Amino acid sequence: MPELPDLTVVAEELTRRVADRTVLEASTPTPILLRATPDEVASLHGTTIGPTRRRGKFLLIPFTAEPGSTRLLAANAMLAGRFWLVQHAERVRARTGVRLHLDDGSDLRYVDREMLGKLYLVDEQELDDIPGWTEMGPDADDPELTLDVFRERIRRHPGELKPLLRNSKFVAGIGNAYSDEILWEAGLAPFRRRSSISAEQVESLYQAMRTVLAEAVDRLRVLVPPDMQTQHREFLKVHLKGGEPCPRCGRALRQIGGREATTFCRTCQPPF
Ligand SMILES: [Zn+2]
Repeated sequence: MPELPDLTVVAEELTRRVADRTVLEASTPTPILLRATPDEVASLHGTTIGPTRRRGKFLLIPFTAEPGSTRLLAANAMLAGRFWLVQHAERVRARTGVRLHLDDGSDLRYVDREMLGKLYLVDEQELDDIPGWTEMGPDADDPELTLDVFRERIRRHPGELKPLLRNSKFVAGIGNAYSDEILWEAGLAPFRRRSSISAEQVESLYQAMRTVLAEAVDRLRVLVPPDMQTQHREFLKVHLKGGEPCPRCGRALRQIGGREATTFCRTCQPPF
């Protein structure tokens, strides 16, 4: 599932490659994926694409018809939704939710083989109508999320650390993979409760969150282009590496759970 670092780099790539392009034709080959009427989709004809931004696990792609009239395609890709930039003549894959023919002969497409993604076409002021939008906490890399703000927010969440990091009401943009990486970096066991950790450990958690995410963005800027649709996780230190040696202490990493596995080091992340 794409998380903050993946989406940050995809947003940058989309901005670099499709901003200022004009939409010649907009269609929904698999209409069920997009919460919009055919007329709303057709209204993207002739619009100009603006710079893509990210909020939590959403990508926001703006389409401007005339100054002051901008629609946003808000996409939460969930498990398998991806944006593809391909030649217009290329075969349309099954489960293509959006197909935008651009004025340079390319197509921007949203393809989702699991059909779990959520796509909305809204005005800026309608973002609040998207389920969960108004409850979303600050982005995990938001400059305004200082250590003091983080300390204040974490007080309201007494539960285990891993679900806490994944809770978008606390901080937005972190999922199963990066929560493992952050907790390993901080030296905190994933099932420890927030109420059991010290003020110094809260600071370690905050610093690890910032460092892990920023380093991942740097790595992904090199790895991702030009294939926005490919998710890169090969540089992660612990997530899904159960049984392999811990990069810090060398003991075998422990992994629990199936599809939503948690990986950690019992030595570096003690249970107390
Ligand atoms: Zn270790």
